[in-house]
Amino acid sequence: MPGPGAYWIAEEERKEILDAVESKYWFRYGDPENPNFKQKVYKLEQEFAQAFQCQHALATTSGTASLLVSLLALGIKPGDEVIVPAYTFVASYTSIIFAGGVPVLTEINDSLTIDPDEIRKKITPKTKAIMPVHMLGNPCQMDAILDISQQYGIPILEDACQAFGASWKGQNVGTLGDMGAFSLNFFKTITSGDGGLVATNQKDLYEKAFGFHDQGHLPNRTGVEVGNRLILGLNFRMNELTGAGALAQFRKLPALLTRLRELKGKLKSKLAELPGIRFRTINDEKGECGTLLTVIFDSAEMAKEIGAELGTGPIARSGWHVYSNMEHVGAHLASVGQPHGFGAYPKTDDLLLRSMNISVGVVDGGLGAGFGININSTDDEIEVIAQKFAAAYRKVQS
Ligand SMILES: *Cc1c(COP(=O)(O)O)cnc(C)c1O
Repeated sequence: MPGPGAYWIAEEERKEILDAVESKYWFRYGDPENPNFKQKVYKLEQEFAQAFQCQHALATTSGTASLLVSLLALGIKPGDEVIVPAYTFVASYTSIIFAGGVPVLTEINDSLTIDPDEIRKKITPKTKAIMPVHMLGNPCQMDAILDISQQYGIPILEDACQAFGASWKGQNVGTLGDMGAFSLNFFKTITSGDGGLVATNQKDLYEKAFGFHDQGHLPNRTGVEVGNRLILGLNFRMNELTGAGALAQFRKLPALLTRLRELKGKLKSKLAELPGIRFRTINDEKGECGTLLTVIFDSAEMAKEIGAELGTGPIARSGWHVYSNMEHVGAHLASVGQPHGFGAYPKTDDLLLRSMNISVGVVDGGLGAGFGININSTDDEIEVIAQKFAAAYRKVQS
């Protein structure tokens, strides 16, 4: 039950990966003159930066690693507060915690992304970054968020892990703020099994993120270099085999998004005929990924009963995407004096209890999207899913 990219793994991936396998040169750095060094990771970074029109791209081992090295590059230190939505994957919180920061959770609105008006209420002198998360492929309300960033001089780190290829007013998400983090795990839009990318237009942030991801080294090294290093780093380097798979998948992204949007359009227009049905607000209809279709019901009971009919449930039940379901995060929030546990963010609680995810491309029970279609579904299959949903909807309504 992976993401759409995984459904499309085929000859192109096989070719790229075999090319790397057979070269026997699996490390991302090497002598460009060496014919065995295929430079897959380097090509991935170049092609990404070119297509997404950003100055710098850095490949990493995961979306989580991308978030962590970005937070460190932004200078997050122990005690610094980072504003983050109350609805997101656990890694948004853990990356902040491992950077030493304090996650300051913030209510979402009916787009299921962070509510810009609520961000303002959370700003304190300790706020050192804002992490909008483009949840379920939907771009956040970036104009308002960038205004806040400018007004207060607080940098933006976009968590674009669930929105690879989404755009806000024509510009790719993840390249609008100071930094952006992407994931290539198996459940995301495109995949290399695991992997990640960081995007930024600022050279100093790129160099810092690079150093944190590679033992303090500077970018574009060709071997093991010695000399002074400005920062202590860790190792989150992508290897050539992963880079090869990611490269083939990245080249499929435009076709994948076109297909997802087409499928979602078909499914949505069928469900839209049901009386009283309401979907979450999509902040940029042209730019969203189309990986999921989210319905918001009038009541939590309706969401629960319709979910039960369809073998799924409200988003509130999706484990590590809902703050109140993360006991370990809750314990940490308690220890730093932050609100935690169900009821701490009532608008978010209410929305998630009333919402249900239907898969279009991301078929993931962990996201509450165990019911729906996938990227290879035919028109007939879409019709069957639409009819199942309609039958459950009518039954519960009557
Ligand atoms: C998947 C995800 C991550 C983490 O990505 P990994 O590649 O699994 O480490 C971070 N944030 C969000 C919102 C995600 O959905």
